[in-house]
Amino acid sequence: MTTAAAVRATVTIVGGGFAGAALALHLTRQPGRLPLDVALVEPRPAPGPGLAYSPAEPELLLNVRAKSMSVWADDPGHFASWLTRQPESSGTNAPAEFAPRGLYGRYLAEELAAVSAQPAANGVRVRHFRGEALAAPLQADGRRAIVLADGDELLSHAVVLALGNFPPPPPTGSDLRYLTHPSYHPDPWAPGALAGIGPDDKVLLIGAGLTAVDTLLALRARGHRAPVRVVARHGRWPAAHGPADAPAYPNFYPELAAERTVAGVLRGVRRHLAAAGAQGLDWRPVLDALRPDLGRIWAGWPLAEQARFLRHLAGPWAQARHRVAPSGAAALATLTADGQLVTIHGRAVAIEPAGDELRVELAAPGQPTQWLMARHVMCCTGPLLDYDRLDSPLVRQLRANGCLTPDPLGLGILTDADGALLDPTGQPSAGGLFTLGASRRPAYFESTAVPELRQQAATLAGVLARRFGQEAH
Ligand SMILES: Cc1cc2nc3c(=O)[nH]c(=O)nc-3n(C[C@H](O)[C@H](O)[C@H](O)COP(=O)(O)OP(=O)(O)OC[C@H]3O[C@@H](n4cnc5c(N)ncnc54)[C@H](O)[C@@H]3O)c2cc1C
Repeated sequence: MTTAAAVRATVTIVGGGFAGAALALHLTRQPGRLPLDVALVEPRPAPGPGLAYSPAEPELLLNVRAKSMSVWADDPGHFASWLTRQPESSGTNAPAEFAPRGLYGRYLAEELAAVSAQPAANGVRVRHFRGEALAAPLQADGRRAIVLADGDELLSHAVVLALGNFPPPPPTGSDLRYLTHPSYHPDPWAPGALAGIGPDDKVLLIGAGLTAVDTLLALRARGHRAPVRVVARHGRWPAAHGPADAPAYPNFYPELAAERTVAGVLRGVRRHLAAAGAQGLDWRPVLDALRPDLGRIWAGWPLAEQARFLRHLAGPWAQARHRVAPSGAAALATLTADGQLVTIHGRAVAIEPAGDELRVELAAPGQPTQWLMARHVMCCTGPLLDYDRLDSPLVRQLRANGCLTPDPLGLGILTDADGALLDPTGQPSAGGLFTLGASRRPAYFESTAVPELRQQAATLAGVLARRFGQEAH
């Protein structure tokens, strides 16, 4: 006789950052009976915080308001309400609209700990397996065996890759000797990345996005005194968030729905920016009005138009769309005014070891080449998402077996509408492979922040619930 335990299915989620955690949580709230064991594989001590929400430094703040950071797609105020119940919220330094990222990590870890303590009402059981997944070979019975670094194997009816953000690629292409120089810091998110930087060491950051803002604020909080130079391709820092009570701008997607070119969409957006400006309204709500439809606009462009957008507009778009908390923007302004922060418009084209230091060649349009010396160079150019270049053992194995197909623009993984990985012929790969998070940028372009990712988690949880809602045989 088959026992109930024997017919339970196993879904393995590889990666216990926000996306993996959100999926596990949403599975526990699927309606009906779901006899599912969810194995959450994550090398960090506790799943939930992942890369983005592990830092303990209180000055590293969320770059999205607390009111938009709930893990639950259908309960948007959940995190903000959790926050008010924390001891930190009663002191004089109570977190404001933009809470410390470490606190958010605690929220996620607590939510997961609650569902891991006992089976959910629908039957889902969540368990953390601490370690790295190295491979996911297909078995003769159609399941996949997730091979962990300690040699354990998890036989799984479906596998979800929630691998998140990988360290940035090297900023220059030629003469890569600098990559092993102690003054070069390839991964600004690595624990202890700033540990060897003395207070008077000359630091050069490559890239001026949110990662550079974090790095700068963390350096200052650690007592770094020397001016920091930042090389930025567009010479601009992320825009600051506007006021929380700014009036919303009406959605105008229907006007853009038929546009199949970047130029057409841009014309429509500019028209609305001008109209908003004429009424004395801020530009931010105009862009925010399109947020629910960004994926549809992106998907409506043929590949050549998507490539055009990446070439010409991805930088300015990121600067306008991925905003910094007002306190971070104010700190940047003060540091700049005090001469402590020097932003250089240009591109690092070569980096050479020079004794203890690194010599960096900068190119800027219409300018003669400059060379700068720095005791530390930190690469803050943003995560590598090109799954053709990623060197993770799991990605290598799935790619080599033709189960994971990188997209032609180097943004992530090709998937179907449910997030199922496609093989090179465009068919869903065998063995129930799915993904969510940044890897789905080829489908949506914006697949980055909590509001998008929690919706992906809710939708994928529904897909898995439909598949495993009856007992597996
Ligand atoms: C520094 C930083 C700050 C951010 N701040 C915000 C913010 O304030 N608000 C916001 O909305 N968004 C923010 N983001 C965007 C962020 O990408 C998402 O909010 C979210 O954290 C992404 O979650 P994730 O699970 O996809 O990725 P990650 O947090 O990167 O987690 C992926 C996890 O997968 C694990 N993993 C990878 N490979 C394997 C393997 N083979 N085996 C086992 N485990 C593996 C890693 O250990 C990691 O913990 C930030 C991003 C970064 C990088």
